[in-house]
Amino acid sequence: MSEVPRLLRYTKPYALPLGASIILMSFVGASQALMVRLIPPVFDRVLLPNSPNTPVELFKVPGFGWKLYLSDLMPAGVHDIWTSVFIGIVFAFLLKGVCDYSGNYIINYVGFSAVTDIRQQVFDRVLHQDASFFQENSTGGLMSSIMNDIDKIQVAVSHLLADWFRQFFTVTFLLAAVLQANWRLSVVALSVLPFVLVPTLRLGRRIRRTTRRTQDYTAELNTILQETISGHQVVKTFGNEDIESNRFLETARRLKRSNLRYVAQQALPSPLIEFFAALTIVGLLAYARTQVTKGGLTAGEFSAFVIALMMLYEPVKRLTGIHNFFQQALGASQRVFEYLDRDRIVSDKPGAVKLAKFEKGVRFEKVTFRYPKTSEIVLDAIDLDVNAGEIVAIVGPSGAGKTTIANLVPRFYDVTEGAIRIDGRDLRDLQIESLRSKIGIVAQDTFLFNDTVAANIGYGRPGATLEDIRSAARSAMAEGFIGQMPLGFDTIIGERGQKLSGGQRQRIAIARALLKNAPILILDEATSHLDTESESQVQGALANLMANRTVIVIAHRLSTVRKADKIIVLDRGKIAETGKHEALVNGGGLYQRLHELQYLEADA
Ligand code: ADP
Repeated sequence: MSEVPRLLRYTKPYALPLGASIILMSFVGASQALMVRLIPPVFDRVLLPNSPNTPVELFKVPGFGWKLYLSDLMPAGVHDIWTSVFIGIVFAFLLKGVCDYSGNYIINYVGFSAVTDIRQQVFDRVLHQDASFFQENSTGGLMSSIMNDIDKIQVAVSHLLADWFRQFFTVTFLLAAVLQANWRLSVVALSVLPFVLVPTLRLGRRIRRTTRRTQDYTAELNTILQETISGHQVVKTFGNEDIESNRFLETARRLKRSNLRYVAQQALPSPLIEFFAALTIVGLLAYARTQVTKGGLTAGEFSAFVIALMMLYEPVKRLTGIHNFFQQALGASQRVFEYLDRDRIVSDKPGAVKLAKFEKGVRFEKVTFRYPKTSEIVLDAIDLDVNAGEIVAIVGPSGAGKTTIANLVPRFYDVTEGAIRIDGRDLRDLQIESLRSKIGIVAQDTFLFNDTVAANIGYGRPGATLEDIRSAARSAMAEGFIGQMPLGFDTIIGERGQKLSGGQRQRIAIARALLKNAPILILDEATSHLDTESESQVQGALANLMANRTVIVIAHRLSTVRKADKIIVLDRGKIAETGKHEALVNGGGLYQRLHELQYLEADA
């Protein structure tokens, strides 16, 4: 249950409006009690022509001698009982309406505000997770959690607060009204409450479990949705529409069952309560008949009592309903809090220093690396020097660990053993933002946003002028094709740049990196899946990008690494050979074999 105080803590910044609405809700409760207390004078005084003209007592607190009379509430000069009751009723309803409306609005304001804060926190948390987090959690699942789970919490927080306070005060004041009427009757009537409350509370725990399951299925459904939509081409290529449709249906059915289970569970207390209410009222009627004939109870007091009791069952019913809503929120908040409690984010350590300039080089010292939660050693005691201004190429068979090396430099992952130093400083001692600002990356599939060409290039440097963007595009040899697009730089390029060819996408990515103008550049197979013609254009753009920078380039095609100052041949996580192309190509080692293999492929 530790989620409860935690959820409520989010309302703390809104203590003032929360307090105001609580006061308004207490007025709602009081006005309802007033309505009940106005019933006896109607029956016993207004409708009886010869009644005595004594003051009408509304409330009294026994032991304190405090009494509230109807005349106390009346403006000066109103003595007539009929006018007083009339004014009292209108006043009670008006008070209830105004307070209910404004209190409800304010409390929803608190609920929505608190939930907006939670959602923002979760989003920021997720944004700062390391790469392994995004491997463990599907996009659809994360989206479902940030949207649906938090929506559930929102409904619960607003409902919970609004209804809880309203009903709580209503119950309290109505109880007071009931006790005023006849306390012996009240005790008898209220003794049925435990029969209603205990099963309801029991049910709550089940509801929480059902909710958690509902959230899981919703997340699953979202994942399928997200994957089949973004992977629509693969689905169609393999003709798997039916399979996907069935997968969707299966999960949707499970979600439906889980939702129906929730409906069945949460609606159960209501008929239960009504049944007990009916039993109580029948019992009371029998008892009251003897009392009224004996003269111990007036007809007005009895009517007030029964009406108050009926009014009381509604809030009790609601309160148990709130309990269920609340269980639902707890179910949903568990996962949300799991995200908030994750500490595996790559973050600045205390006292981290800013990397102001990059001058000397990047050095790998006995770097050993294992991906989180795996046992395979991907990099094994790698020693590597990349001096400022050098182009260092990493080649090797697929799976050798080339991309892993590239991922370690911007600290997408931290090394398992050993250290990577920039200008002699351990990466882990640097402020991440300052480190990443020195690194430009062009990978084989750079992510483009569904935005304009200019916005995508401009992402490299927030605040860049259109002139800067143009000039970056020019150096990236992209100005030509951008000029031919319908709206030029203002053309929207579709999700992930679907409206562009592979070579065009790469040139936009290169322009973006040019604009960022970082001294260290990582090229991860930037041309590997391009045809020869687009490759030659992209190569031209890359040459402009590489000028005057320190470059780590990973390449399949050995033709692209010929000009490198140093070539590292990686094999199963170890450095097999190091040297220049001319030396390695006849060295009789792995490089020579890879080289010959490629010529064979090219001939074929
Ligand atoms: P290359 O770029 O040389 O093809 P990678 O660096 O991508 O090789 O991968 C090296 C090894 O690390 C492979 O055995 C691969 O299965 C493993 N690997 C890569 N990424 C991950 C990951 N995120 N989690 C676990 N293992 C991984």
